[in-house]
Amino acid sequence: MRGLLIVDVQNDFCPRGSLAVSEGDKVVPVINRLMKLFPVVVASKDWHPRKTVHFQKWPPHCVHNSRGAEFHPDIHDVGIQQVFLKGTGDRDDGYSAYEATNLNLEQYLKDHKVNELFVVGLATDYCVKASALDSVKRGFKTFVVTDAVAAVNLNPQDGENALRGMKDEGVVLIESKDVK
Ligand SMILES: [Zn+2]
Repeated sequence: MRGLLIVDVQNDFCPRGSLAVSEGDKVVPVINRLMKLFPVVVASKDWHPRKTVHFQKWPPHCVHNSRGAEFHPDIHDVGIQQVFLKGTGDRDDGYSAYEATNLNLEQYLKDHKVNELFVVGLATDYCVKASALDSVKRGFKTFVVTDAVAAVNLNPQDGENALRGMKDEGVVLIESKDVK
């Protein structure tokens, strides 16, 4: 069974958000199209407390229940079957969707017979990367859809390097047009 994991497509990571990924919203129409091809569709949300060590590294973003933590308004969120909340503690970063605290993502995927996981969303060089690598480690055949992700790019090559690093660890890079 194939599953789609939509990582952190939240207002704060999109243009005008507090930790905006340039052109982060470009992934939205691609993801909306992909969602229709998958029987299992889940999403993660960065869901931070107001005070956390994470905000010593990053500008405050995705504070739980804030507007910035909501999904981008154009995401067809009715198609999302389960949301996984991560970074919910005050001591952790919660980059990987497998660190969600409201539910266990690995268990959820196994319960739904998912063995191939396609990862999309924001941002390539942090949460997408951490989630894809954790997915490989847990034995899922893991894909990253390269035109459905976008990078923070603190350094201009970070996104490219992240994709190469994922590929080296066994992640399959694919374009959305090749997802049938
Ligand atoms: Zn965060």
